[in-house]
Amino acid sequence: MIPSSEISSPNRADLLGLSREQLAAVLAPVVDKPFRVKQIYQALYERGARDFSDLTDLSKELRARLAERFRIGLPVMTSRHESADGTCKYLLRLHDGTTVEAVDIPDEGRHTFCISSQAGCALACTFCVTGYWGAGRNLTAGEIVAQVLAIRADRKLPAEGLNIVFMGMGEPLLNVESVQGAVEILTEFISPHRITVSTVGILPGIEEMARWVRRPNLAISLHAPDEERRSAVMPVNRTYPLADLLKALRRYPLEKGRKLTFEYILIRNFNDSLRDADQLSRLLSGLKAKINLIPVNPDPVLGERMVPPDDARVEAFKERLRQRGWIATVRRRRGDDVAAACGQLRAFGREARGFRGKGETLPG
Ligand code: SAH
Repeated sequence: MIPSSEISSPNRADLLGLSREQLAAVLAPVVDKPFRVKQIYQALYERGARDFSDLTDLSKELRARLAERFRIGLPVMTSRHESADGTCKYLLRLHDGTTVEAVDIPDEGRHTFCISSQAGCALACTFCVTGYWGAGRNLTAGEIVAQVLAIRADRKLPAEGLNIVFMGMGEPLLNVESVQGAVEILTEFISPHRITVSTVGILPGIEEMARWVRRPNLAISLHAPDEERRSAVMPVNRTYPLADLLKALRRYPLEKGRKLTFEYILIRNFNDSLRDADQLSRLLSGLKAKINLIPVNPDPVLGERMVPPDDARVEAFKERLRQRGWIATVRRRRGDDVAAACGQLRAFGREARGFRGKGETLPG
C-alpha cells in the first residue's frame, strides 16, 4: 500500500497522528504559508493521501521538501478476508513489522470499523483469543488513525458517517494518550457519539476519559454479575474490582440522553441463568445504561468450556433484562467464516508469547 520510497527511509517523522496544532508546529520550518497546514491536514485525514505526490494542490517543490523530511505512516495491508456477510478483516503491518487486525462491519449501508489500540493484550481474559496470545506494544495515535484510513481506502469510503469501535486488539485505556490523540483527529470528521471506547474497566483511564472535552461513548466489558466469577474470567478484576468500577461509573459524566454500554458475554452454564440476569440487573441499578449481550464466540485455543448458550436461553436472558426495564440487545455474530467475530482477533503471524494450556477451565 505504501510506496517503496517510504519503506526505504523509515527514519523520517510520521505525520499521521498529529493534531492540527502539532502539525502546524512540525511543518512551520517547511511550509511557506499557514493555510498550507490546513491543506495538508485535510489531505492526510479527509482525503487519505498515501504519498506526498497525492498532494497536488501543493507546489512540486513543497511536495519534495515534505517527502525529504516526513512520511505518511500508512500500514501495509498484508491480508484481507471478506466474509460472506460482507464483514472484512484486515491484517495490517506497521512500520516496525508489528501486525494488528482491524475489521469493517457493514450493516445496511453503514460501516462500523473495529480497530485495535495495542498489538496484543496483556490482560489474559480467558474467553479472548487476543489475550491468549499475550501482550504487544501500544500503538501510536497515528497507527490507530491509520487503520481507519487504510480501511476507508480499501472500501472507498468518505471520512464522514462511519462508526468506530475500539473493540479490536488491546485495551484502549492502557494506551489512553494515543487513543485520546486518535479520537481528537477522528472527531474532526465523525461525531464522538459514533465512536465507542470499550474497556475492561481500567479505573485511572476512565477517570481520564471523564475529563476529555469530546468524549466518545464508553462501553464496559462486564461479563459476570459478581466479583468471584468476574475474577475467574477477567484477571484484571483483582486489580480493579467490580465494586470500585461501578462506583467510578456512577460518577462518570454523561451528556443528556447518553448511556453507558455494558457488554456481557454469555457463556453456557457459567453466567447465563435467569438468576444471573436478575443479579446483573441489581448490580447496575440506577445507572443510565444499555446492555449488549454477546453469546461467546468459541475458538479452539480457548478450550472446551467457552460454549455459547442456545438461542432460547439467550432470548430468555434478554427478555428478563427487558422485563426489569433495561434496553438489552443481542450482538449478532458477524464475519464468522473469516474469524473476525468479537474476541477472535489474533494477528496471525505473530509469535505466541507464552502458552496457556488448552485444558484451562472455568470454575462452576
Ligand atoms: N479490551 C477491550 C476492548 C477489546 S475486546 C475490552 O475488553 O472491552 C472487545 C469486546 O469483545 C469485549 O467486550 C470483549 O470482552 C469481547 N470478547 C472477547 N473475546 C470474546 C469472545 N470469545 N466472544 C465474544 N466476545 C468476546
